[in-house]
Amino acid sequence: MIVSKFGGTSVGSAENIKKVIQIVQSKSEASAVVVSALGGVTNLLIKASQQALENNVNYADIVDEIEDRHFQTIEGLLHHDNQTVCKAEVAKKLNQLKDILNGVALLNDLSEKTTARIVSLGEQLSSFIIHQSMLQAGIKAQLVNSSECIKTDDQFLNAQVELEKTYGNIKAKIKESDAQVHILPGFIASNNKGEITTLGRGGSDFTAALVANAVSASLLEIWTDVSGMFTANPQLVRQAYPIEEISYQEAMELSHFGAKVLYPPTIQPVLDKNIPILIKNTMAAEDKGTLITEKSLVSGSIVKGISHIGDIALLTLEGNGMVGVPGISKRLFGALAQNNINVKFITQASSEHSICIAIDSNESTLAKQAVDAAFEFEILQHKVNPLIVEDGLAIIALVGDHMKSHQGISGKMFSELGNNNVNIRAIAQGSTEKNISAVINEKDVRKALNSLHAVFFEDQIKQINLFVVGIGNVGGKLVEQIRSQYKYLLENLHLNIRVVAVANSRKMLFDPSGVDLEKWEDELDAKGLSSDMSAFMVKMKELNLRNSVFVDNTANQDVPDLYEACLKHSIAVVACNKIACSSSLDNYKNLKYLSRKYNAPFLFETNVGAGLPIIDTLNNLISSGDEITEIQAVLSGSLNFIFNNFSADSSFYNVVEQAGIEGYTEPDPRIDLSGIDVMRKILILMRESGMPCELDDIENDSFLPQVSLDANTVPDFMETLKQASQHFEDLRTKAEAADSRLKYVASYKNGKAKVGLQHIPKEHPFYNLDGKDNIVLFYTNRYKDQPLIIKGAGAGAEVTASGIFGDIIRTGNK
Ligand code: ADP
Ligand code: ASP
Ligand code: MG
Repeated sequence: MIVSKFGGTSVGSAENIKKVIQIVQSKSEASAVVVSALGGVTNLLIKASQQALENNVNYADIVDEIEDRHFQTIEGLLHHDNQTVCKAEVAKKLNQLKDILNGVALLNDLSEKTTARIVSLGEQLSSFIIHQSMLQAGIKAQLVNSSECIKTDDQFLNAQVELEKTYGNIKAKIKESDAQVHILPGFIASNNKGEITTLGRGGSDFTAALVANAVSASLLEIWTDVSGMFTANPQLVRQAYPIEEISYQEAMELSHFGAKVLYPPTIQPVLDKNIPILIKNTMAAEDKGTLITEKSLVSGSIVKGISHIGDIALLTLEGNGMVGVPGISKRLFGALAQNNINVKFITQASSEHSICIAIDSNESTLAKQAVDAAFEFEILQHKVNPLIVEDGLAIIALVGDHMKSHQGISGKMFSELGNNNVNIRAIAQGSTEKNISAVINEKDVRKALNSLHAVFFEDQIKQINLFVVGIGNVGGKLVEQIRSQYKYLLENLHLNIRVVAVANSRKMLFDPSGVDLEKWEDELDAKGLSSDMSAFMVKMKELNLRNSVFVDNTANQDVPDLYEACLKHSIAVVACNKIACSSSLDNYKNLKYLSRKYNAPFLFETNVGAGLPIIDTLNNLISSGDEITEIQAVLSGSLNFIFNNFSADSSFYNVVEQAGIEGYTEPDPRIDLSGIDVMRKILILMRESGMPCELDDIENDSFLPQVSLDANTVPDFMETLKQASQHFEDLRTKAEAADSRLKYVASYKNGKAKVGLQHIPKEHPFYNLDGKDNIVLFYTNRYKDQPLIIKGAGAGAEVTASGIFGDIIRTGNK
């Protein structure tokens, strides 16, 4: 015989019950069918009983809602003639429910016994309706009263089953009938006085396991709303997938640690008789599902699944008087056991100085009272401290039978959590090493599950989540490059780069599943919120996504204020914005320090020479022990463009205007022409070379006339360029007379740096620098006579965007 259990969603509507009937009809042998209440009905019954207790009259509405649900289901399933009888039975039972609820409201008393009676109704109703539908479909079916068969103790809401008696009763009931299908309501049972008890939330799975044992079934099927037991909760981890085969032990560990798809006590009765369990999806019956047997596959992934339990409280008992004193643990656990508090997790420091225990949050007040009372004497004597209770926690667990024979799994687990700034409060590894579990903050659960899932199950594809601020010239190109390179990076570098937020000065848009890069502009217009950088930060923290990267494509003064908070939350920062790195030395050093401390990359390659690998090369020189002695550089693509195009045929003003139009200057051209931009760049190179210096330490010999330096606005400034055309003509003709070209040069030597316009003679490497190119000569201990030269396009949106892209990819290699 096969035992099939159908869960709440599977019997949650007429349409789904029809699928259930089809599945049952397709069996060639007799079957026992265990059913849950219609999905959500148990919760409604609990809610109604709570409201009755609080004397909230709305409980009557809930009863009406329950009636509607059942009536609709009946109408969708049964012929008109059969509906009346069925509805009458439902109405009768719901009238009894109303009476009980009125009693609860009047007496202002709700015992566990009454609650059990109330919640048992869900399964009673569903089994009745399903039985009727099967009869109508011509199936020879009997309805078995499971509450009579399953005998338990008096813990009404979490009753313990008397196994032998129960097995005998079920066996007899099924044997005495010649039905093809035996329908049993799940979840419900009774004590020896015949009063209704229930088997705990999710308990219908357990009913089915009891039936399977009783009839020595060949298979226990658990039909539910997902296609098997997944590698992680599919509601939290999108990439999770069904595990094909798993051992009883592994399934037990996963369900014990929160994989709700199987109620933990379900395994033991079937394990006793070695009956396989098959988890299947009622809504996708063709999917393979998960097979649970005693054998444990050695092939495939070593870690079989990751699960978690939320609403956990951590109890810590500590004190100097605990060391070497026997019996402390016994008294601690005794106090918890006496209060029926279930312990989910234990660790003890090897010094015996403290014991850590995790329990359900809603039992923490009781636990504190019980433990403090048990140790009252020691607490008074300051040998033991009052119990410390921390709430808002969760347990995550990696499960796999073969983890014990593989090194490095816990190392990988904890370094991944560390890299993602998930704080670990306690760790436990079962001595059998079938699970490694850790207590973390509840708010980090989604991130922890997803990052661990990526490491242990996802072909090592790393997801990088980008928060992009600034989507004008450079940012727009960046988004375009990410869109066109997406597939290549996924396939070749195993990086899944997703833009989860975009913002410009007007609007910001968040989409945790990834902004559609084909139409981000329309979406930003249509759905964007008005831009606010502190709100942007709050949202970024709230989303708490793994491998988050904040990308600053702006030249804005204020955006860099967010970097510190980003790094402190392990959000990497990639910036072409030079403000932060050229701000005060303290700020620069602090950001570098935070980057190391929180293991969050802070990358700004495009601060100097756009996409050219200048900072990266410099970092490689330094980290391999070299020392920079001198730097000679042309670092302004804008100024280079301007002086290369400035000729007898086009005035200085015209060339500057042209450079602006082509996007080679900063939005405010004064930043380029005053030399401040080049000063910032050489400052950053010096700092990256290990020299502590401030912007004021750099000498700036400006080529601009005083009127231009004094101009307050961009238009005024442009006007002065027109007026002072003779000044610029003189600069040009003097250089020509000396057979030289004008180049704006930054140099560093002997601890001193300066920027300014220079006459570059023909034989100099700078002489032939074209267009908007940059060049840097590094003289170092290793490159003494011949400098290390980096040369190439040093300005423009396309190359800058590709430099930023390079930094983003580098964050993926951290
Ligand atoms: P039923 O009503 O059929 O008993 P449950 O709601 O009790 O269904 O269990 C199925 C649900 O368990 C799934 O919809 C899923 O959200 C949740 N779940 C949690 N962890 C897992 C996991 N590891 N694999 C599959 N489902 C899981
Ligand atoms: N209906 C019960 C519950 O929701 C039992 C079950 O569905 O397994 O907990
Ligand atoms: Mg369930």
